[in-house]
Amino acid sequence: MNEDVFKNLVSHCKEYGFIFQSSEIYDGLSAVYDYAQNGTLLKNNIRQYWWQSMVQLHENIVGIDAAIFMHPTTWKASGHVDAFSDPLIDNKDSKKRYRADVLIEEHVAKIEAKIEKEVEKAAKRFENFDEKMFRSTNARVLEYQKQTEAINTRFKTALNDNNLAEVKQIIIDCEITCPISGSRNWTDVRQFNLMFDTKLGSVSDDSSTIYLRPETAQGIFVNFLNVQKTGRMKIPFGIAQTGKAFRNEIVARQFIFRMREFEQMEMQFFIRPGTQKQWYEHWKQARMKWHNALGIDEKKKRFHDHIKLAHYADAACDIEFEFPFGFKELEGIHSRTDFDLRNHEQYSGKKLQYFDPELNQSYIPYVIETSIGLDRMFLALMSAAYKEEKLEDGSERTVLALPPALAPIKAAVFPLVKKDGLPEIAEKIMNELKFEYHVTYDEKDTVGKRYRRQDAIGTPYCITIDHDTLNDQCVTIRDRDTMKQERVAIDKLHSIITEKVSLKNILKKAI
Ligand code: ATP
Repeated sequence: MNEDVFKNLVSHCKEYGFIFQSSEIYDGLSAVYDYAQNGTLLKNNIRQYWWQSMVQLHENIVGIDAAIFMHPTTWKASGHVDAFSDPLIDNKDSKKRYRADVLIEEHVAKIEAKIEKEVEKAAKRFENFDEKMFRSTNARVLEYQKQTEAINTRFKTALNDNNLAEVKQIIIDCEITCPISGSRNWTDVRQFNLMFDTKLGSVSDDSSTIYLRPETAQGIFVNFLNVQKTGRMKIPFGIAQTGKAFRNEIVARQFIFRMREFEQMEMQFFIRPGTQKQWYEHWKQARMKWHNALGIDEKKKRFHDHIKLAHYADAACDIEFEFPFGFKELEGIHSRTDFDLRNHEQYSGKKLQYFDPELNQSYIPYVIETSIGLDRMFLALMSAAYKEEKLEDGSERTVLALPPALAPIKAAVFPLVKKDGLPEIAEKIMNELKFEYHVTYDEKDTVGKRYRRQDAIGTPYCITIDHDTLNDQCVTIRDRDTMKQERVAIDKLHSIITEKVSLKNILKKAI
């Protein structure tokens, strides 16, 4: 998908009631979005798919819903007060602010693109490719590879040593320019904490500063023992949660990919120390299976191991998805050791240990975490589903080929005309189906136009009632993907639709 199609997808999201800019009448709020009527249904369905696969289908995983506000010491213990920051740099001419790490990564990506181009060019000229050309192409590719390796090594060392002066020097040595001003007039690199803070109650001294949680995970850690005891959970067990998280992102762009207020779906899996490698592998594979069960091209997903591990991790990888703007992180799988529980134990002075009856000993469990952004999953699904199609008769349609179980509306019911008792039959059908799924009614315009409207929001089925229905109790059901129409008895509708839209079919493949 190229940039233009991505732009079309963004406008499609607005035009068809999926996503609106927040407070649009006041010209919006940067990197904050509202989910509209269809978007909310799709988002709820994704959340439900995740929740059921985690909580309903795993006897040893339970779900909670912790508050967004937490005791401020939580964020000291978790390391967020001291270490949850991004290196930022300003261009003095354009006054634009950038993430220093992103500037360097984008520079490396440009060199990598050059390598790919050289290789592609060489492959095209393969037939009359002489030795001299081969040598010079090879030399260029090797030179580019040397450059990227050198930058990556320097950058990794600078990050590990927290050497911000060196990060700036890399930007200068790579001759990276500001995309707006074109200049290399940079400020020093500074660390910028991403947590939003606010005040609790009416006291305005420092001790009342609290944070909007930057991740949902800590609500699970501080409740670990409460859940373990009240649920009589035995290790290994998991606690799952979905909810809002807030980060004051420096560069927030690419629509809902990077927002300042977003939703996470996280699961912390508590295990015996020493078993982390095996469980990390288990959850890596399990999460990929969950993604693949949706039927989206497997080539659009890949694992990416982290070079620099976060302060709490002993192994970490991302599941990346090929968004219209390239492969980017969709979900993180982290082996968090006992970092969080150990620190909470230390800061709170309360024991957070589990007594393992099989080993007859107490210990602080290790944790494997799976963490996925609901909004990023929404964007991944929308970008895989959005299609501008040319039909055989020369006409065009825009269709959202969403997995039917996640589609906002499952069926649309149309009377062919607004008279002769057809709307009444349509209404009767609606009133039956609405107890099972979200259905909608439409009697405006030609049936062809009504089909197009439903295609654009991803409705798997359209049902048309015509004059023959009055005699034969049959209707025409039209499939979104094949556009095939079939005549079926009204009393068969329920089983036909259920077969196609049931979440059960996907859930069975997901675990
Ligand atoms: P990134 O490197 O893209 O900033 P991250 O590594 O900081 O992400 P995590 O802290 O691992 O992300 O958060 C887990 C998940 O939460 C991510 O995989 C992503 O799907 C989602 N997420 C994180 N930050 C944002 C954001 N600003 N907007 C939307 N989703 C986000």
